[in-house]
Amino acid sequence: MSFIEARAILEPIESSQEAEDFLRDLRPEVLVLPESGIVEVFNYGRNRQGLIPLWVGEGDLPTPDFICEAATRSLAAGETFYTYQRGVPELRQAISDYMRRAYGSPFIGGFVPFSPERFFVTNGGMHALQIAIRMVAGSNDEILVPTPAWPNFFGAIIAVGASPIDIPMCFEGTGAACRWSLDLDLIARSITPRTRAVVVNSPSNPTGWIATHADIEALLALARQHDLWIIADEIYGRFVYESDRAPSFHDVMDASDRVLFVQTLSKNWAMTGWRIGWLEAPPELGSIIENLVQYSTSGVPVPLQRGATVALQQGEDTVASQIDRARVNRDLLCEVLGHNARISFARPEGAFYLFCKVEGAVESRGLALQLVDQAGIGVAPGSAFGSGGGNFVRLCFARKREDMVEVARRLERWLGGLGGGSAGPNL
Ligand code: PMP
Repeated sequence: MSFIEARAILEPIESSQEAEDFLRDLRPEVLVLPESGIVEVFNYGRNRQGLIPLWVGEGDLPTPDFICEAATRSLAAGETFYTYQRGVPELRQAISDYMRRAYGSPFIGGFVPFSPERFFVTNGGMHALQIAIRMVAGSNDEILVPTPAWPNFFGAIIAVGASPIDIPMCFEGTGAACRWSLDLDLIARSITPRTRAVVVNSPSNPTGWIATHADIEALLALARQHDLWIIADEIYGRFVYESDRAPSFHDVMDASDRVLFVQTLSKNWAMTGWRIGWLEAPPELGSIIENLVQYSTSGVPVPLQRGATVALQQGEDTVASQIDRARVNRDLLCEVLGHNARISFARPEGAFYLFCKVEGAVESRGLALQLVDQAGIGVAPGSAFGSGGGNFVRLCFARKREDMVEVARRLERWLGGLGGGSAGPNL
């Protein structure tokens, strides 16, 4: 059962009268946690025959055998005990080697680049994010989040009692020239004495936007000027279509900069269910991070760390084939939808989502429900991604080609044919 399925089953229980008594004495920050905007659409569409589900941010391929086998061998060998809070040394070394291969030797000033001491193994990227936020913000603090953004940024910030400040990005242009960009002035103007950090997710879930080198330089300059932390979610940093990797804070920072990187094994190696990732942070924070791991999950199971180690050491073909597969789907969707005057989107440069809006749709929830009813496609409503998400919907295209061909066909038909036209959906 997926997380979304489980949420859908629990929802009726949680909204019952009896629940009120239990909830009354809970902390306000947990009571105000926003619900996943995807669950409602999922509930609505989950039993539809033949529906193609594109609402969740993961691919449809299982983890490659060589990775699973490493974990199985570890279990069979009895690696079933408590382990290092920071991660087993072999995995930290593998992360360090992997980062050096993918990102080069980025730091200036004699600092040892990508030393294993910078890496802390976590229970997925989500746990890395949670630790990063926990270290820098609490009650009454603010964290700036350019939107559209992955909803968990908001949830994780609210869970520590801090406030996410939604900074809409700009969506401009028409047709193939549509693009997203950061409003750097608005970010600068939104900094207050309570601001502690800026979240920068590039390549972005849900838009596929990639920060330019200049964007990253400007953000780092702002962070330096105002003593802010950067929470750099670069999990899709290598999941890009036009180059080897996206620009990174690694390219511009030095050892004294306050940058915390969120990373994960989930996407590149098809390991979403493993719940393993890492936080990259200044080594000086080691014992703090170790404490936060100890007092939350107490570490990542060793067999999973063995799987992650071989994924990083031997998984380049997996990464390359996942990107190739997604690229074909991206091109297909962009080609078909790009011809329809009623739909607009910025061609995703990275990650595996198409974030599009349909002319005439005023709110994304209704649009997503209509896509279930009328097109047999399950999408995530853009409103789940903050104010920048407005009337968009997100489609995850990390799926087998036949599904995407069928999605393209259904969308095309639903939209009333190529080039738009009057026979489109009733919005
Ligand atoms: N950051 C972003 C932008 C994501 O899209 C995700 C997963 N959807 C994560 C972090 C966390 O990944 P995980 O917890 O699965 O490792």
